[in-house]
Amino acid sequence: MARCVARELVEGSGIDAGRLVDLLVERAMAEVGNYYYYTLLRLHLVGVEGDALRRVIDDAREEDRNHYEVLVPRIFELGGSLPAVLGGSGGLAALQDLPAEADVPDILPVLLKSAEESVRAYTHLCALTSGKDHRTYNLVLAILHEEIAHQVWFLEFLGRGLAEPRSYHQRAISPFVTPFLQSPRVAGLKTPAYPA
Ligand code: ZN
Repeated sequence: MARCVARELVEGSGIDAGRLVDLLVERAMAEVGNYYYYTLLRLHLVGVEGDALRRVIDDAREEDRNHYEVLVPRIFELGGSLPAVLGGSGGLAALQDLPAEADVPDILPVLLKSAEESVRAYTHLCALTSGKDHRTYNLVLAILHEEIAHQVWFLEFLGRGLAEPRSYHQRAISPFVTPFLQSPRVAGLKTPAYPA
């Protein structure tokens, strides 16, 4: 592998860079998997409750896509790469056998569990990088803020008798992660900033 200064600096701070990259790749796969399964799920939700949940899912879906977009450049900076085949069982991959019509009371516990898993994973990544790898730390902390918001939305949805949570109306998409986005739209670039 070519010399990778970012990786050397991270190693020098006492972090196992290989392990860190593995964890970041795992999260990137879970985020893009969530985006995919949220897309399927929103097509299957039925009824008034389903409409309300779909609006929440649309926001969570956009944000998880952004999480994927900001994780990928950091993985490449650290000398890592993404697997050629999308696999992984994290996140919403548990939803693989989606029913033809998704029942909101049945789906919510799965969404909550997945949000809790994300919060746990990013909390661990914060602890791993805190005071050592400042760039990864800032990134995973920003994502953590948004994952906690997803958890709150689903909890509120449950707590308010399956009505739309108030908190998700009060903010824009990805208020914490947007500064890290390098998407062509945001940066005015024609191609993504990470290697093809
Ligand atoms: Zn996410």
